[in-house]
Amino acid sequence: MLETLQAIVLRPTPFQDGGLVVSFLTEHGERKAGIAKGARKPSAKWVSAFEPLSLVRVGFFGKEQSDLRRITRCELQHSPLTLGHLESNLVMACLADLFDRVAKEGVEDERLFRLLSACGRALKEHPDRALATLAYAEHWLLHCMGLLPHPRACGACGNETTPIVTLSEDHGWQCAACTPMDPSEALPPGIREHLRNLRTCAAEDAPETGAEAARVCTELLRSRLLKELGGTLRSYDVMRRMVM
Ligand SMILES: [Zn+2]
Repeated sequence: MLETLQAIVLRPTPFQDGGLVVSFLTEHGERKAGIAKGARKPSAKWVSAFEPLSLVRVGFFGKEQSDLRRITRCELQHSPLTLGHLESNLVMACLADLFDRVAKEGVEDERLFRLLSACGRALKEHPDRALATLAYAEHWLLHCMGLLPHPRACGACGNETTPIVTLSEDHGWQCAACTPMDPSEALPPGIREHLRNLRTCAAEDAPETGAEAARVCTELLRSRLLKELGGTLRSYDVMRRMVM
């Protein structure tokens, strides 16, 4: 069976005889991998299309639900790459790693494709704001995974105006009115506002992560997400060493 799709490249992994196994996030939001034979040889005409986060048109040949599907063609349509921009390139690697873990073979979730496309465009437009784009993606990935409670009202008492002080397993976001906390352990003021910004803005307008509330919130959501994915990811370790 031959199938052609729009997709975003996630991870290329070296395979036998100079080939690559490449995973993609398809336009339907499903993870799909295939083998590109001979793609690592110097003569290979398509290797540049396998850069993580490239938007491509890819052809697969083989049985449905098979790991041995072959990639027959792969044409680059858009690359979010900004040459020489370290921070943006590190964030691209993190995003590719994240979506490679979250997207599943045989499960379609179009929100994932829309989210990653939007982040790719934002990275190309504003490479200097790459860390904000990453925080935006992490927030929406948690939402797509059903792990992010709505921040409008306190999950314990329903109050909508008191500051959020913690995120708990049982009640989600909890507020100062019902949850006494040591001030040194409470989340800083402005968490609800930061979450509201994340929920309502477009990827290219993702809020900066430097201010106290944004920084703490980003760390909290990131550790929640990475914990769900089984610990840290190599791309995050590299990013932390280089830019954080
Ligand atoms: Zn409360």
